[in-house]
Amino acid sequence: MNSVRSLKISISGVRGIVGETLSPFLLNRFAQAFGTYLNSGTVLVGRDTRTSGEMIQHAVISGLLSAGCNVIDGGILPVPTVGLAVPCLGADGAVAITASHNPVEWNALKFLRADGIYLNEYQGEALLDIYHGGEFKRVSHLHAGKVRYQENIFQWHKSAIFKSIDVETIKKRRFKAALDCCNGAGSLVTPYFLQSLGCEVFPVHCEPNGIFPHHPEPVPENIENLCQAVRKNGADIGFAQDPDADRLALVTEQGTALSEQLTLALVVDFVLSRAKTEGQKVVVNLSTTKTIDDLCKKYRATLIRTPIGEVHVAEKMKKEGALIGGEGGGGVIYPVVRYGRDSYSAIALLLEMLAKRNIIASEAVACMPKYEMIKEGIQCSMDNMRVVLHRLEQVYEGEVIDTRDGIKIIRENVWAHVRPSNTEPVLRVIAEGKDRRVAEGLLQEIHRHIDVP
Ligand code: MG
Repeated sequence: MNSVRSLKISISGVRGIVGETLSPFLLNRFAQAFGTYLNSGTVLVGRDTRTSGEMIQHAVISGLLSAGCNVIDGGILPVPTVGLAVPCLGADGAVAITASHNPVEWNALKFLRADGIYLNEYQGEALLDIYHGGEFKRVSHLHAGKVRYQENIFQWHKSAIFKSIDVETIKKRRFKAALDCCNGAGSLVTPYFLQSLGCEVFPVHCEPNGIFPHHPEPVPENIENLCQAVRKNGADIGFAQDPDADRLALVTEQGTALSEQLTLALVVDFVLSRAKTEGQKVVVNLSTTKTIDDLCKKYRATLIRTPIGEVHVAEKMKKEGALIGGEGGGGVIYPVVRYGRDSYSAIALLLEMLAKRNIIASEAVACMPKYEMIKEGIQCSMDNMRVVLHRLEQVYEGEVIDTRDGIKIIRENVWAHVRPSNTEPVLRVIAEGKDRRVAEGLLQEIHRHIDVP
């Protein structure tokens, strides 16, 4: 991979390959820029288990201290725990060191605000301007920041969730849960979290060594070991987290891996079903399954869609006072706990749903409206992307389309979303229909317009 493609500097932070593009020099400058952006203050730093994490953490902490920030070192933490802890600690922001579901040689910095939400695009732009400008705040020896280590930050996360669910009902069911943390940040806390909910836990890949045993994206093709563990141990459910533990995928008691779209759908169904009034708001991104539209119709809730990206969904949820929301790729946002994707809230709500309804996982899935989703990535230069998207807008202008993030073509029983990736020179194309054939049909049609020489 060439060096340009292995480094991505954007409003979402910086991401690159350790030993190639993600140098301590660059990381340190980014941290100085964030310290300058915050004009000092207190910053929480947390990381996933990647073996590069310690090197990066030291580069980041040094940059923050030089700008006069005080640093709270939270050690290895799930990203949702970092987000939740920022306001709990009264910190002014946080740096999360994780490349999430990207392969293990990658790492990244993500920046969070005082409310625990990622910087939005305007704030991200402001940080980038400081980074590129190179005029960083530097304090004298009298004002250099200090570091303190804070243990047990996850306790706050756990208690925020436990306050919002019926722990006793879950405990009584004495669930057997298999768990695949991909040896990521969840490894240190998720087994304990499940045990606190009365579960017997069958861990698979829960060693916090940062060596990922499979591709870290929590999708069915990567979690076969978890499926086996469910079957072998007669577990009621299997949970798969990605390495920063914001996303969650599920395996039924039969050992069947579910599409990650179903995680959010099952949670939305449960949360809407117990809402006291109709007209509740649900916020999801444009690429999330149509199952959510059907559920909102069923419970007379209002569905609002946003461009892709957690911060878009989270800010919209906050503004609209949404009851539940998230991103289809296993990213549940339960605002009672925090405005950010959180696999722990999702685990708790799903167990509560099974316990309260007294059903098993496959029964919960059987009640869900069914759709088939197909995802593709098409290599495409940035210039070409603009041409392609413009062409598609012209082709489909007579139909129902949404052009807030690429183009989404919406028909009665099928939709397709074509958008530039935030992280690679790739056009992401997603189509979903009542069956695979209809989704493929629309995909092929779009291909004919994209592939024009
Ligand atoms: Mg993630």
